[in-house]
Amino acid sequence: MTYVVTDNCIRCKYMDCVEVCPVDCFYEGENMLVINPNECIDCGVCEPECPAEAILPDTENGLEKWLELNRTYSESWPNITQKGDVPADADAMKDVPDKFEQFFSSEPGSGS
Ligand code: SF4
Ligand code: SF4
Repeated sequence: MTYVVTDNCIRCKYMDCVEVCPVDCFYEGENMLVINPNECIDCGVCEPECPAEAILPDTENGLEKWLELNRTYSESWPNITQKGDVPADADAMKDVPDKFEQFFSSEPGSGS
């Protein structure tokens, strides 16, 4: 089992999650974060910290796509352990549906 970052993180990126993870297993893309499933210890601490409710346990149904996305991009995006600047339009983007189709970027973030 692992926790995974899902659609609602895209272009929100509040980054409250990275500050609490005891094993620093978040990785930064241009407009979302992912969790490395091989490093996550399933502690669940990050889940309630996410204002966008984007972090879910992979035991929930229908998350296979997100598990694969988290696995794939955590291998190429840089590690992030400290909260950076939140995008100016994060609140406006918070509950927009189907963000993956519209806004997902495979480009890496800067990490920290
Ligand atoms: S707190 Fe939630 S929305 Fe923000 S970066 Fe972490 S997973 Fe994404
Ligand atoms: S569940 Fe725990 S180990 Fe896994 S990403 Fe969240 S805070 Fe880190």
